[in-house]
Amino acid sequence: MLDSASKTFFHLLAQSGSLKRLASRYGMRRPSSFARRFIAGETVEEAIVAARALEARGLTHTLDHLGESVATLGEADAATREYLAILAAIVDAGIGRNISLKLTQLGLDVDKASAIDNLRKILDRAEPAGFFVRIDMENSPYTDVTLEIFETLWQQGCRQMGVVLQSALYRSEQDLARINALGARVRLVKGAYKEPKSVAYQRKEDVDAAYERMLKVLLTQGHYPAIATHDPHMIAIARRTAAERHLPSDAFEFQMLYGIRRDLQTQLVADGYRVRIYVPFGREWFPYFMRRLGERPANVGFVLRGILGEK
Ligand SMILES: Cc1cc2nc3c(=O)[nH]c(=O)nc-3n(C[C@H](O)[C@H](O)[C@H](O)COP(=O)(O)OP(=O)(O)OC[C@H]3O[C@@H](n4cnc5c(N)ncnc54)[C@H](O)[C@@H]3O)c2cc1C
Repeated sequence: MLDSASKTFFHLLAQSGSLKRLASRYGMRRPSSFARRFIAGETVEEAIVAARALEARGLTHTLDHLGESVATLGEADAATREYLAILAAIVDAGIGRNISLKLTQLGLDVDKASAIDNLRKILDRAEPAGFFVRIDMENSPYTDVTLEIFETLWQQGCRQMGVVLQSALYRSEQDLARINALGARVRLVKGAYKEPKSVAYQRKEDVDAAYERMLKVLLTQGHYPAIATHDPHMIAIARRTAAERHLPSDAFEFQMLYGIRRDLQTQLVADGYRVRIYVPFGREWFPYFMRRLGERPANVGFVLRGILGEK
C-alpha cells in the first residue's frame, strides 16, 4: 500500500513545472550534485565516461538517452537523430554496443507510423554495427502497442532487439509466453509506473510473487533473459533456479540501474555473473529521476542532503 501511495505522490510531483525548473537548476550542475547519483550526465560524452568506469569494474551497460512523451513529429525526428549520433559516438569510443529507448520518445503519441519509421532508422544503423537495442516498457496504455510494434519488426527480421515485461501487470505472464514463443529476449522488471488496479497488482507481495513466477519461466524457456532487479531476494531465487537447471552463467544476465545497489552489482560480478547497468543520461532527466524517488522515498533524504550541501 505504502509503495503504491508513494508512487502516486511522486507521480503527482513529477507533473510540477516549478519543481522541474528548480531540480533542473540544481540537480546536475556540479559533479557532486544530487541527480548525478542516478543520472550519468547530460551529454553522451559524460555517459561514455560512466560506461568506461563500469567496464573497468567488470560490468556491461546499456545507454539510455532520457526523453519520453514527445508532443510533435519534429521533436521525435530530433530524438531519432540524437540516437543516431549516440550510436556513432559509442562506436568511436569503442565501448560496449547496447542501447535502450522508449517509443514515446520516437513519437508514438503523435503518430504510430512515424514512431515505427524512426525505430527502423535506428535499427538499420544499429544492427549492422552489432548493437543490441532494448525497447523499454512504458505505462500500461502503451503495453499493447509496444508489443505489437516489437512483434511486427521481429517478424520482418529485426533480431537484435528485445523488449521489457513488468510483473506488476496481470497480463504479463501471458505476454511472456508470447515473447518466449517468438524466441526474443526479455528484460523482466517489476514495473516503475503507478498503475490502476484494473490492470496491475497493487500489493508489493503480489508484484514480487509474479516476478518470481516469471523469472522461473524465463530461466527455463527464455532466450538470454535479463533479470532486472535490485531485490536481493529475487536475485537469490534467480541464482538458485539457474543452478538447479544447470544454466551456465553466460546464459542470462542481471541488470541494475546506474547508482543503485552498487554493492550488489560488484558482488554479482565477483561471483561470476554477468551484470549490465542501465545508464541514463540527457537533459530530460526529471521524470526518470522522480520515478527513482517514488520507488524509495528514503532517496528524498539523500536528495535533500545534496541540496543543502550545495548551498
Ligand atoms: C535495468 C533496468 C531497466 C528497467 N527498465 C524498466 C522499464 O523499461 N519499464 C519499467 O516500468 N521499469 C523499468 N525498470 C524499473 C523497475 O520496474 C523497478 O521500478 C525498479 O527496478 C525497482 O524495483 P526492484 O526490482 O529493484 O525491487 P524493489 O522491491 O522496488 O526494491 C528492492 C531493493 O532495491 C533497492 N532499490 C530499488 N529501487 C531503488 C531506488 N530507486 N533507489 C535506491 N534503492 C532502490 C532497495 O534496496 C530495495 O529494497 C528497470 C529496472 C532496471 C534495473
